[in-house]
Amino acid sequence: MIDIERLKLVIETKNTFAVVSHTSPDGDSMGSILSFYNFLIEKGKRVDVFVEGQVPRKYLYLNGANEIKNVDLAQESYDCLIVLDCGDLDRLGECMPLTEKCDLIINIDHHITNTRFGNINIVDSNASSVGEMLYDIYLQLGHNISKNIAECLYTSIVSDTGGFKFSNTTSKTMNIVSKLLEKDIDFTSIYYRLFDQKTLNGIKLTSLVVSTLRTYLNGKVAIMNLTKEMLELSGATEDEAGELVNIARDIENVEVGVLIKEIDKNVYKISLRSKDYVDVKDIALKYGGGGHVKAAGCTIKDKTIEQIETILLKDIEKSLGEVI
Ligand code: 5GP
Ligand code: MN
Ligand code: MN
Repeated sequence: MIDIERLKLVIETKNTFAVVSHTSPDGDSMGSILSFYNFLIEKGKRVDVFVEGQVPRKYLYLNGANEIKNVDLAQESYDCLIVLDCGDLDRLGECMPLTEKCDLIINIDHHITNTRFGNINIVDSNASSVGEMLYDIYLQLGHNISKNIAECLYTSIVSDTGGFKFSNTTSKTMNIVSKLLEKDIDFTSIYYRLFDQKTLNGIKLTSLVVSTLRTYLNGKVAIMNLTKEMLELSGATEDEAGELVNIARDIENVEVGVLIKEIDKNVYKISLRSKDYVDVKDIALKYGGGGHVKAAGCTIKDKTIEQIETILLKDIEKSLGEVI
């Protein structure tokens, strides 16, 4: 039986579902989990949606966002766990215990580095976003896309394509978006909230992060830091500032933008972005991370920012060299 048919059987025969995505959820995570929430509610199922920590404020317009729970409020067990936009199980962070509460794991993802950790794995690395995959999946499951679901899927797709401008945007992506607009969603307001609206504290945080910007390797690499102290000084949460790493990548002549973010003492989350030709996913994989060719990440422990910078620059220099 092909995976979509197995998924259909699961949806038809199971009753209680937990839905989750990766830690520090982005627009694709939030749109995907809440579209699945709406889908299952419309199917008359019992469903709990989980996020680690606070739900980022900018996604509160999505239907179901107020129902999202932290993992400590999970029930003893669920029939099935749906994991969306997650390349490997480690990315669940504090939500990891959910895997123990469910007999069946369904993995729906578009990361090329996906480890196929589910009992059912639907993985398409050609899809711009999980939202794009879910549009097809709901139709294949015979479900009509409601306005609530359309708002979630639009959020996923517009987020992971950087507003339809990254090279993962295809004519298929645009065809799906066109169908979503037929549901009369307020795409102007969603786009504005996701890309343009900032809080004052978010701007203060951006300014602190940008003040650390330095360039290397003939201006091909731009690196910035985000420390816990900056979060305290600005009063902002990270999502209030927008995709900070893009500021580094978007500088003229820069090929690789890097954001080194302090998570804990000597624990740093690295965000890597490339513009044209460097495969940053290969660099992230070296440190146990993953992602896409032009957007990837990993966590590095027990090193200082300076040490991390030195090792990353060596890797990036090699990748740049292989092309030049
Ligand atoms: P970001 O820099 O926005 O956190 O992540 C960029 C991309 O890489 C996203 O698609 C994200 O899911 C993926 N990614 C980030 N960190 C990790 C990681 O530690 N492991 C894996 N497998 N993927 C990651
Ligand atoms: Mn994501
Ligand atoms: Mn995604």
